[in-house]
Amino acid sequence: MPAQLLEGKSVALKIKEHIKLEIESLKNKYSAQPKLVSIQVGENSASEIYIKSQEKTARELGIYYELRKLDGKITQDELIKAIDNLNNDKNVHGIIVQMPLPQVIDAKLISRFISPLKDAEAVHPQNMGEIVFGRTKILPCTAAACMELLDSVPAFELYGKEAVIVGHSEIVGKPLALLLLNKFATVTICHIATGQRGTLPEFIKKAEILIVAVGKAALIKGEWIKEGAIVIDVGINRVEGRIVGDVEFDKAAERASYITPVPGGVGPLTVTILMRNVVEAFKQQQ
Ligand code: NAP
Repeated sequence: MPAQLLEGKSVALKIKEHIKLEIESLKNKYSAQPKLVSIQVGENSASEIYIKSQEKTARELGIYYELRKLDGKITQDELIKAIDNLNNDKNVHGIIVQMPLPQVIDAKLISRFISPLKDAEAVHPQNMGEIVFGRTKILPCTAAACMELLDSVPAFELYGKEAVIVGHSEIVGKPLALLLLNKFATVTICHIATGQRGTLPEFIKKAEILIVAVGKAALIKGEWIKEGAIVIDVGINRVEGRIVGDVEFDKAAERASYITPVPGGVGPLTVTILMRNVVEAFKQQQ
């Protein structure tokens, strides 16, 4: 495997050290610590894992973490009211609403009710919009994690590079395209229609940076990868009891210069970026 591994854990460690120092100095300055409140509606095994990792990381960094479990039968209006109470609580600096929500609740609508100042995942349209102007420091966690991974590649410059993203979701593909554009990469976004048209391989063959966030195992064939490309695989798929990404890892690693493992690539960084957002939100609220 000629490619080097781009592991999220080591990048996360560096960011965590920085966050710890920052929290210490904020404690001295304001005699207060950032607090993140996580709302979980009903039970969900996928979000349980994420919540545990949030709790553990927050504790490690010195961020107060509170989980508010709401009944799975709650109405949309009741959820909005619960969010609003947190918006108005000056001791709460970050809010996250765990997904998925029950089907009767419109998840996209809910993100509009989190105060943009306390929006720990940067899902509010205002925070999304600020990315266009390159102004916000509160960033969508997974997209920002991909940027940190690219930043960790030694002597790598994004300026003018051909970057191809596969997947155009609101939380990953779309904000990531803007973050890359803000660094002067030449960005192409592929999505379901590209896949249906059968032109994915031709875009991917040109990609010096390839970021895939779809959720389909082996969607991206190893032989499509450009020699020397940097490959970031965001996808998480369970195949025969194993977790794999969207890229055929072994074959892609023969051609790439750097590649993220799945698990162990983007995942460990996402929760760290969430905490960095909470600290940033705390600072903006002081
Ligand atoms: P999503 O909202 O379902 O988006 C998937 C995207 O892929 C959509 O834009 C979809 O297009 C596109 N797509 C579907 N089939 C395609 C195909 N055959 N060819 C090209 N594009 C195709 O998912 P997401 O929330 O962005 O997550 C994507 C993956 O990343 C999932 O596996 C998720 O578990 C993983 N993830 C990992 C992390 C992490 O921390 N590691 C964080 C978030 C997500 P249409 O919408 O037009 O159908």
